[in-house]
Amino acid sequence: MNPHYPTVAARAAHRCEYCYAPEVVFNSPFEVEHVFPPLRGGSDDDSNRALACRSCNVFKRDYVDGLDLETGSTERLFHPRLDGWSEHFRIEAETGRILGLTPVGRATIERLRINSPSQVSARRQWARLGLFAHARSRENPQGGARSRER
Ligand SMILES: [Zn+2]
Repeated sequence: MNPHYPTVAARAAHRCEYCYAPEVVFNSPFEVEHVFPPLRGGSDDDSNRALACRSCNVFKRDYVDGLDLETGSTERLFHPRLDGWSEHFRIEAETGRILGLTPVGRATIERLRINSPSQVSARRQWARLGLFAHARSRENPQGGARSRER
């Protein structure tokens, strides 16, 4: 096992830091990955490590950007250490899809295939089990963040 797993997994609360998959329903530990690949100059310390499920990590590979299908532009990928998840993504409880709220969010969803049929199907089961309840309440529009006084 990756020697950094205990620290990185605890920091991530045992969820994939890209698609928010709950590690508890998997039969093997999630993977410690470099957010920015060392081959492209990424550091080898905790500020450049994240916890990723197999699916996200397989498609992320050494990519650092992806295509925003809404604008057609190439955008950098979501950075779990620098970006806030709920700034870029929202879980659509009814469909099990994850919506990209920003160009970075949409490019990450496309590159990591976060809304692939198997991802969406699994996510709907996790939602049924209440494993996305926290994320849903965090995304609740009544919870604030919506209105800011001008
Ligand atoms: Zn994932």
